[in-house]
Amino acid sequence: TSFSELNLAPELLSALQAENYHTPTAIQSQTIPLILAGVDVMGSAQTGTGKTAAFVLPLLDNLLREEPLPEAVKVLILTPTRELAQQVFASVERYAANTPIKAALAYGGASIGPQIKAIKGAQVVVATPGRLLDHVIKGSIKLSAISALVFDEADRMLDMGFIDEIKRILRHVPKQRQTLLFSATFDDSIFELSKQLLNDPKLVEV
Ligand code: AMP
Repeated sequence: TSFSELNLAPELLSALQAENYHTPTAIQSQTIPLILAGVDVMGSAQTGTGKTAAFVLPLLDNLLREEPLPEAVKVLILTPTRELAQQVFASVERYAANTPIKAALAYGGASIGPQIKAIKGAQVVVATPGRLLDHVIKGSIKLSAISALVFDEADRMLDMGFIDEIKRILRHVPKQRQTLLFSATFDDSIFELSKQLLNDPKLVEV
């Protein structure tokens, strides 16, 4: 398959051209149609497989279908570490470069003021769980309009002890939403978590 066969918006296809991506990777060709169709996905993929674009591109496409573009946070991407949050955010910015979609980054150990400013006006937020909760408590982010929630490297999030933060975040996110979970490994604890988070998920393994 090619990216254009996946029915992505022209603004996204032109960004992929600028990135010199010619062919979707395995996880991309399997996952993109599912996310465009609105179903929940559980993906097993290591870093380096192209998993970031596999969820970011269709989520951006789904956002572009909303007219007018919402003035609220619609997509929340949770990552275990600040480094991964920064990488995912950079990818969102590149893939959304030809669209009006705005993204914001929220992680701990950095001053909160600029993050608060960036969150205002963003449709996509990439965050680590602890700092995201700080924003929720401060009232600097509203999660009530979220339509898609992504857990990237969910196994590392559990290993790092983020389960309580995840549960607290979930209380603020609408039950009616699309949920995507990516993990390099799938053991019992990930399946247990996914049962609580995902609704009839499709499993994609590469
Ligand atoms: P990820 O697994 O998301 O960390 O991506 C690994 C690397 O592959 C990143 O540098 C991406 O920019 C790159 N990449 C992702 N999708 C493609 C693609 N379809 N063609 C070429 N490179 C890609």
